[in-house]
Order: sequence, then C-alpha cells, then structure tokens
Amino acid sequence: MEIYPNIHNIVSENKTGQGITNAYLVTGTTGSVLIDTGWKSDEQSERIISYINKIDCTTLKYIIVTHRHPPHWGNSEFVKKQTDAAIISTVIEAPYINDYFENYKVDIEIDDNLDIDLGNFQISVMKTPGHTSGTLAVFEKENKYLFPGDTVMGKGTSVINPGDGKIADYLETIENFIKIEPKVIFPGQGDPVTETYDKLTSLIAHRTDREQEIVNLLKQKEYSVDELFAQIYENLSEWLSHLAKNQITSHLIKLEDEGKVTKDQNMYKLIDF
Ligand SMILES: [Zn+2]
Repeated sequence: MEIYPNIHNIVSENKTGQGITNAYLVTGTTGSVLIDTGWKSDEQSERIISYINKIDCTTLKYIIVTHRHPPHWGNSEFVKKQTDAAIISTVIEAPYINDYFENYKVDIEIDDNLDIDLGNFQISVMKTPGHTSGTLAVFEKENKYLFPGDTVMGKGTSVINPGDGKIADYLETIENFIKIEPKVIFPGQGDPVTETYDKLTSLIAHRTDREQEIVNLLKQKEYSVDELFAQIYENLSEWLSHLAKNQITSHLIKLEDEGKVTKDQNMYKLIDF
C-alpha cells in the first residue's frame, strides 16, 4: 500500500509489526527502487512483482538490501529475475548475502556513499554500521525520509549480536542520523516513525543506561554474562533471554574495547577508572 506519496510498503501478510519485514518501493519519475524484499517465500515474491505491475511504476532500477539478515534479502533473486534490477549492498554484507543466493550475486557492492537520482527523489545510500558491520541506510534528501533497515525499529530497539555488529558503531550511526534530522523514519520492521528526534535520542539513552547498569554491577564484583543477565532481566522467554545475553555481551565487548573491562575465563572485571 502507498503509505506516503510515492512510498509503498509491500509487506508480507499485509500488516506491519515486529518480525514482519517491510519492503519499501520508492517510485521516482525516472526510476524506482525497492528497499529490502522480506522473508523468502513464493507468496511475498509474487506479491512484490504483482504490486509493481499493478501500480505501473517507472522501471525498477535497484533492489537495495539493507543488511545480511535473511528477512531483508529473501526475495531479491526472484525480483531481480523478473525485473533485471541491480542488487545493491555493501562490500561487507555482500559475501554473506551471496552465500545464500543461488543464481545471482550482489551487483553493486558499495564502500562509500552512493547517490541515485530518481527524478523527484534524490536518494543517498549510506554506510551505517552497528546493527551489523555492513548495514546500509537509504536517505531521501528532499523530503528527509530515512530507511535505516533494522538500525531503527518501529517499536523498541534493535539487537546488536556479537560478531554481527558493535554497539560503539551503532551509537555513532544513531548520532549521525540525529544530525541529518530525518522527518520520517521508515524502519525495517514496524510502522513509520515521525517523532524522529525523540526516537533516536531514546535509542542512545537505552544503550547508555544499560551500559551504566552493567558498570554499576561490576563495581560490586566480577560477573559472568549469565550472572549479569540474572541481575538485569526477569521473566523472559528462552529466545528473548538468548537475545538479552547477546546484548550484555555486546556491551561488555564495547567496555573491553575501551579498556574499561577485562575478561578472565568467562568472568568480567572492571578496571579501575
Ligand atoms: Zn537485522
């Protein structure tokens, strides 16, 4: 459906929310782009193609994949086969995505910002590491529309799993988002965000508060990740517990990188500062 003028969201199950990945079609006067393609499924593949045909938009030039996680590139190969649009990702994410592709590869691996002229829209594809190390975002300069993939969620905060991305990079990316003053954020999952400054500053506050909570606990004694988890969280499902422990580990990696914490076996200790 057209959610803003010339911005369409072709989502699985025709609803938005956490766990349902948005696929945004931006229809310019000289060409269109698709930002993410949803979980791989015959239904979603057909939905995207029939939607593009139904609205009779300008030629689909690019399929922009925000990052390596499967719900974002799932139907890219099918859409490419049907439209011959070029698939764009970053040099860091491309190998992960290519590993899963059967017949195609990422066509354009960006290592710097890439500007695309769509006539009525001027978009910039930007490297925005954090959620994963090679995540990109799309920024439309005239309207100040930001498509950040999973870096910003419609509700709550995105996860940063060790090995995928780093909290320090994520915080820098959010600071950069604040500087460009987006008017609307179209997240990878969930509904558009219009209170963008409040949203972005709350993401920084959430991480800063969590880090302080961990530091305060480590001031008392050494802790393992499991022990910190038991102190900070309660009543989480098995899956959410797994994600929460990953967030604690990511915070500890940041503190280690900053020389504030050391790790011995599985125990973390605060260095005096
Ligand atoms: Zn993700």
